[in-house]
Amino acid sequence: MVSRVIPVDPFDLVIFGGTGDLARRKILPGLYRRFCAGQMPEGARVVGAARTEMDAAGYREMVAEAIREFGGDETCDDLEEFLEKLDYVAIDARGEAGWSELHSLMASRDQIEVYYFSVGPSLFGDLAERLQQWGLAGPDSRIVVEKPFGRDLESAQALNATLARYFDEQQIYRIDHYLGKETVQNLMAVRFGNVLFEPLWNRQYVDHIQITVAETVGVGGRGEYYDKSGAMRDMVQNHLMQLLCLIAMEPPARFDPDAVRDEKLKVIRALDPVLPHHLIRGQYLAEPGQESRYPSYREAVGDPRSRTESFIALKAHISNWRWHGTPFYLRTGKRMIARSSEITVVFKDTPHSIFTEDAGRHRNVLSIRLQPNEGITLGVTIKEPGPGGMRLVDVPLDMTFAEALGPEGGAQVDAYERLIMDVIRGNQTLFMRDDEVEAAWAWTDPIIQGWEARHDVPKPYDSGSTGPTDALELMRRDGREWRKVSP
Ligand code: NAP
Repeated sequence: MVSRVIPVDPFDLVIFGGTGDLARRKILPGLYRRFCAGQMPEGARVVGAARTEMDAAGYREMVAEAIREFGGDETCDDLEEFLEKLDYVAIDARGEAGWSELHSLMASRDQIEVYYFSVGPSLFGDLAERLQQWGLAGPDSRIVVEKPFGRDLESAQALNATLARYFDEQQIYRIDHYLGKETVQNLMAVRFGNVLFEPLWNRQYVDHIQITVAETVGVGGRGEYYDKSGAMRDMVQNHLMQLLCLIAMEPPARFDPDAVRDEKLKVIRALDPVLPHHLIRGQYLAEPGQESRYPSYREAVGDPRSRTESFIALKAHISNWRWHGTPFYLRTGKRMIARSSEITVVFKDTPHSIFTEDAGRHRNVLSIRLQPNEGITLGVTIKEPGPGGMRLVDVPLDMTFAEALGPEGGAQVDAYERLIMDVIRGNQTLFMRDDEVEAAWAWTDPIIQGWEARHDVPKPYDSGSTGPTDALELMRRDGREWRKVSP
């Protein structure tokens, strides 16, 4: 089966921060792939905007290089044709330079306008204000904003208030690229498109749910930024929270932006505070023998006394009828054994086993893998083939159907590509609403304030491990085990 590519309407996309890391690694190669897939219409135009002085030819050269480096395999031979769609304006978000040029570029264009704020959040307000001052944004214009969206509830509220001064909520697209992943959407299709799962999707049949986002990289060149943030702010408040919402939410009445986001919001608001002994923070150690290449967290951030966590594991509870008493274990960390993001739903044992004890104990496990190798598998118990009595064995049922859907099945579409196309279509379903972001901070803030008040010091853990041993204990004392972190 070949996936259908539905072209979007002609658009002008201005990327503020068009020379930055995110634009070069994700946004521009993603747009090129959409162009190759035939999704980009004739009149589409992409304008890079940043302070660096260069002309359109220089920008096209920079973008061509970025595409060669980060474009991946799904490209086509029409790079020149794509590059012709690009323009560039040297602009200062905080000053007056470049705004009149941008105004001229955008004048008398009667098509969808998207302004992508791929710059630090401290510039969001300046950009929003200048877009209005210069008459560049009309009631149908859209803005895309990147994480981090605040560092606590107060700053997130301030940021929302600033944007709300210039744009309606329907114009604001807060991006969380985890929501753009094929498997995350497939999770909703599996949950709400089948009758099989929903009756089991509750405290009566689900033993617990785990969400792991493990990275092998350390903080790298982001040390200064990361040390002010940590795993809770950088990963849990946004990415893991969004995954938790999709797993735990009630079926929305319709698959439309506000219906879905209303249900996600209810999940966040139903989260209990996390108890101190249900929370483990860690900091990675240097790789023995390779300390200069793989330094410890504290060396990497240049602070031998840093108390910021590069790893966090916690047990959360959702106080509602569906999930009362069902634990949700979340963990994420850097310099772990493998790069792996996975949601696992572990179902309860059958109420009674008709088989003898040597048939073993078996459980259904639904595993939703986000990276690498996106896919969904359901572990089912069957009879081990062959003579010799009834022995049971767990086999994975592949629900991704990659083979059935073929190489064009869509799984290779990067999250950014999909999300940018959604912005152009005006579909906010996979973007965070203001109240969602604020509710997530309202849950996160007291957890952070709690460990700060306790002067909690993160536990050291070996590079290439699964985090501090205390994180294993968090589950073991409940008689459970984390899933293996495997690439
Ligand atoms: P970056 O590499 O530092 O790029 C920043 C961009 O902003 C550059 O193009 C820079 O160009 C431009 N810029 C800075 N000050 C400006 C000003 N006053 N006026 C106009 N342009 C200005 O940052 P990034 O990694 O691309 O990240 C951009 C945003 O995305 C950040 O909010 C970041 O947190 C978020 N994000 C990034 C990633 C990632 O993988 N990189 C992932 C998730 C979220 P000039 O210096 O030429 O002006």
